[in-house]
Amino acid sequence: MNLILLGAPGAGKGTQAELLAKRLDIPTISTGNCLREAVAAGTPLGLQAKTAMETGKLVPDDVVNGIVKERLAQDDCRKGFILDGFPRTIPQAEYLEKMGVRIDYVIDLEVPDDVIEPRMTGRRVCEKCGAPYHISRYKETTCAKCGGKLAPRADDKPETVRDRLRIYHEQTEPLKDYYGKAGTLRAIDGNREVPEISRQIIEAVEA
Ligand code: AMP
Repeated sequence: MNLILLGAPGAGKGTQAELLAKRLDIPTISTGNCLREAVAAGTPLGLQAKTAMETGKLVPDDVVNGIVKERLAQDDCRKGFILDGFPRTIPQAEYLEKMGVRIDYVIDLEVPDDVIEPRMTGRRVCEKCGAPYHISRYKETTCAKCGGKLAPRADDKPETVRDRLRIYHEQTEPLKDYYGKAGTLRAIDGNREVPEISRQIIEAVEA
């Protein structure tokens, strides 16, 4: 099954992608994680993406499109995949279509902006494996999965969060209409407890 997780930054895409990946036994492709790895490794791609990411802007389409193309060509994506954080613009969605990638469902996690802001500023991410946590639910300072150190993301500062939400509304939200017309969009209330959201997503994709 080929899935896209759509939704504002901080809507819970990463958490749900991980649960869904386990359930369906398919890989998650997070362009945000790929880019953060490139930044940490100091590769040319990372250097190109760093400033845009730290200021909450989108990385140019051709850069992210290249990452996704390369990742989708790997063997483990043959039985399906979950795209987390891609596409984020109409040209990115058109790129997927041009590549001939079939999308079964686009899960839109709907969460109001005033719920998102505290979610993001309280977010902590494992510096080693990228696993997401929230200070309201997890009090440890190291990752439960790999022992890596947890830290806030550079782009989770309150002023950057507001910019990211503005960019989401301007550039990413039009994708709801795009996939709505394609008939693949499934809207899910993301303002609930994690297991309940997960249950609804599974219901939507296994229906
Ligand atoms: P995320 O972890 O998905 O919130 O992504 C973190 C940051 O990476 C975003 O704020 C963007 O700067 C960049 N990024 C991730 N995915 C994309 C994408 N599909 N298009 C453009 N920029 C992206």
